[in-house]
Amino acid sequence: MRRMKTLIAEDDFASRKSMLRFLEQYGECDVVVDGREAVEAFEMALENGEGYELLCLDIMMPVKDGYQVLSEIRELETKRGIPEEQKIKVIMTTALTEGRNVTRAFELGCAAYAGKPIDQEKFENMLRKLELIP
Ligand SMILES: [Mg+2]
Repeated sequence: MRRMKTLIAEDDFASRKSMLRFLEQYGECDVVVDGREAVEAFEMALENGEGYELLCLDIMMPVKDGYQVLSEIRELETKRGIPEEQKIKVIMTTALTEGRNVTRAFELGCAAYAGKPIDQEKFENMLRKLELIP
């Protein structure tokens, strides 16, 4: 099975730990604890030619929030001319499930939206829909 490379951006220790435990079964995972680190990790991976396929992105995080991270990442991809199908897939993982939060995230280019706490079965279906896992 193809191994998926994932970046988890989450400032809450317990959420981070459970996401990591769950996603590690599909491949390599890196973890960052705030928005600035998330953008840095994303850029570093691109520069090394080993970009992530999936970003699990919290919204409420220190330094930069998830919206800011998502828009910076899409900007970086555009600047580098990364084709649509090679762009990182972003799943917002957040407790903010109100309509306007969801709408804003999709406008910025997320692929899916998962309320916290993460329901692993639903999350797995999401990964399958995004063709990240078989
Ligand atoms: Mg948070």
